[in-house]
Amino acid sequence: MEIQFLGTGAGVPAKHRNVTGIALKLLDERNAVWLFDCGEGTQLQILKSSIRPRKIEKIFITHLHGDHIFGLPGLLSSRSFQGGTEPLEIYGPVGVADFVKTSLRVSQSRLSYPLKFIELTKENDVIFKDKQFTVRCNILDHGITSFGYRIEESAHEGELQVEKLQALGIPSGPLYGKLKRGETIVFDGQEINGQAFVGERKPGRIVTILGDTRKTKNSVTLARRADVLVHESTFNKHEAKMAKAYFHSTSQQAAEVAKEAQVKQLILTHISARYLTKEAYQLQEEAQEIFPNTKIVKDMDIIEIPFANEGGA
Ligand code: ZN
Repeated sequence: MEIQFLGTGAGVPAKHRNVTGIALKLLDERNAVWLFDCGEGTQLQILKSSIRPRKIEKIFITHLHGDHIFGLPGLLSSRSFQGGTEPLEIYGPVGVADFVKTSLRVSQSRLSYPLKFIELTKENDVIFKDKQFTVRCNILDHGITSFGYRIEESAHEGELQVEKLQALGIPSGPLYGKLKRGETIVFDGQEINGQAFVGERKPGRIVTILGDTRKTKNSVTLARRADVLVHESTFNKHEAKMAKAYFHSTSQQAAEVAKEAQVKQLILTHISARYLTKEAYQLQEEAQEIFPNTKIVKDMDIIEIPFANEGGA
């Protein structure tokens, strides 16, 4: 599981930062990519990455400001041109379907794959669930309806330690199934407890990706104990008044959310073009005063999300 930042800028594209596009790469987990927001030029950024558009299974839109959605019609059309036939789901605020359908209709674009819209109408809702993942959304504070998403991976059950069993001469077959479930079996007159032959259960990972927002308690709820929190950082610590006026956050407000939610790592994105490299790192340093494990990302950066007991950054 990795997150690749396709665009880390705020508002308008800049030479060094494109507008928002975030890919959650679930290639090992489900051979798929989930995209969060799709600002203009996202498909060009995808070309620079190893992501294949037809592997994009779901797109989650946080809010309908142009710098988060103007890349959608182009990406959807290209996915079709490239022969994509796999269905695609788009989640987002009410209006996202209208925007996409209108763009496709006016440009007489036809897609080669089924497109399904899931417009979000409820606060604090489970919007997707299967055996592997649960996705929740909640409303943030951005003037326009803006959502945050929490992606929870189900726990990975421990693997059966087949080599140990073979060393005891236990043949593979239905007995292994019982042992894997932790049952006790009798083999050769000996009691064998399955629990001793099953590896450790790994808790699933949690990723929280928030749309643009002021500091709000729903951010903390969405991010509670997440492995990674992706948070906007449009303003620096001296600009709290501006952040409030424009419904955005400062670097330190992002760090406060990370701290209150007890996340493992904070990633800062949605960086204004006013901040060049040095000033951008200042945003990171400001956040680190409150939450040390903070990293500001640049376009194309990849963040790996390890299991809790496997260390990592
Ligand atoms: Zn916005």
